Amino acid sequence: MTFAFDNSYARLPERFFARLAPVPVAQPRLVKLNDALAARLGLDAAALRSTEAVAIFAGNRVPEGATPLAMAYAGHQFGGLVPQLGDGRAILLGEIQDPAGERFDIQLKGSGRTPFSRGGDGRAWLGPVLREYLISDYMAALGIPTTRALAAVATGEPVWRETARPGAVLTRVARSHVRVGTFQYFQIRGDTEALRHLADYVIDRHYPEVRVSDRPYADLLRTVIARQAALVARWLGVGFIHGVMNTDNMSIAGETIDYGPCAFMDAYHPEQVYSSIDHQGRYAYGNQPRIAQWNLARLAETLLPLLDSDGDKSLALAQQAIDGFGALFTRAWLDVFRPKLGLLEARAGDAELIEDLLEAMAAAGVDFTNGFHALNPAVASGVEDELGAAFGEAYPRLGDWLARWRNRLAEEETSPEARLAAMGQANPVVIPRNHRVEAALAAAVEGDLGPVEDLLQVLATPAQVDAGNLDYRRPPAPHEVVHQTFCGT
Ligand code: AMP
Ligand code: MG
Repeated sequence: MTFAFDNSYARLPERFFARLAPVPVAQPRLVKLNDALAARLGLDAAALRSTEAVAIFAGNRVPEGATPLAMAYAGHQFGGLVPQLGDGRAILLGEIQDPAGERFDIQLKGSGRTPFSRGGDGRAWLGPVLREYLISDYMAALGIPTTRALAAVATGEPVWRETARPGAVLTRVARSHVRVGTFQYFQIRGDTEALRHLADYVIDRHYPEVRVSDRPYADLLRTVIARQAALVARWLGVGFIHGVMNTDNMSIAGETIDYGPCAFMDAYHPEQVYSSIDHQGRYAYGNQPRIAQWNLARLAETLLPLLDSDGDKSLALAQQAIDGFGALFTRAWLDVFRPKLGLLEARAGDAELIEDLLEAMAAAGVDFTNGFHALNPAVASGVEDELGAAFGEAYPRLGDWLARWRNRLAEEETSPEARLAAMGQANPVVIPRNHRVEAALAAAVEGDLGPVEDLLQVLATPAQVDAGNLDYRRPPAPHEVVHQTFCGT
């Protein structure tokens, strides 16, 4: 079993990384292989189940053609700059190309200590590994840009957190692992040559269209900003809270990366926070656009030496790009939320209509997913039973809004079929509900992978309404509500 590696990152200057192999583990065992992703990448799933492949996923065998390395990066964590982070528990094996020629990193996460481990053990354990697997797979099913999980293996070694946990390694697939923090790493060191190298690398790999521009670096910045604005809008559309939007967890390729204490909201509230370490609510649901812009401003600062030879011009270009985030985000947010309401055309006043519904949902503590999905039957058949169920006692107060909404719907000539198709896509019925995720992970840690398998299957078709996923669509009962999620590092 071999990957057809072609490792562009390993050809960058040596100061971009540390070369080292993953640290072998005692007893590799395949827990989960992502057959659909393997197929998408043009890999032979049967071969990926072989003993040799499992040894690769565990870090016990470095495959032919790999150039294993730990990437260097820095980052703002909760607003504070850490000049050196880097892959403290991950190894980039190399890059492969899918049948369409698109390039993907193959990275092991939880693969042992590296020069960037800073006192950590370099390891991961099964709970968080499967959590990342589950949630990234769901994001992919929604079509939201994300890193993917190709395989999860158990190591047969304990990992010490509060107590002994079963060790595991995740094989992560990403368009690249270059982060805002990668640029910061070189900015902090005053290494403009490396910054230019990195920017050129990112342009060649991700944004070749800006190469021909008069100002490729300004266009690179603008493009990354637009990608992130679109990404965060998609998150908001499904009630996703990333939880650790540090600059080292923001991908330059625009993918959702680093699934730690992330969560999907049950009851909607813009200030909702789940992460146990987010005491100030910095990364609350409704703060995510602002934080994205803040992180992108840090990226813009790193590019100042490249934007123009004149410092004032550089600053103006960077400022202009950052100021553009607001309009880009608003447009992306409207693109996400209009179809949730069945609106396929743009009209003035749409933002207010959406905001007012969200406000009513927050006031009544309506389940985000079910509240929006209840609009679908209200359009399909005019029946508002689901809305009544979702809003409960607050339903009668929704009357004015419903009248406005129905008037607005009537302003469009959109066909009912097109409208319902759009709403079906925009308002998924199943999300990885926190209580189901926690229960599935607890079972997996006890050796029963059944609930994880079931959940994965249900999550693969987010828009499907059927009896089989009825219980997965149910919000948590009060005693089931998960109030906190953990980094689980
Ligand atoms: P994260 O919070 O996962 O984004 O990680 C932030 C930084 O901590 C990165 O440099 C990681 O590589 C590092 N890190 C997280 N967990 C560990 C661990 N168990 N051992 C070593 N480094 C870690
Ligand atoms: Mg990280």
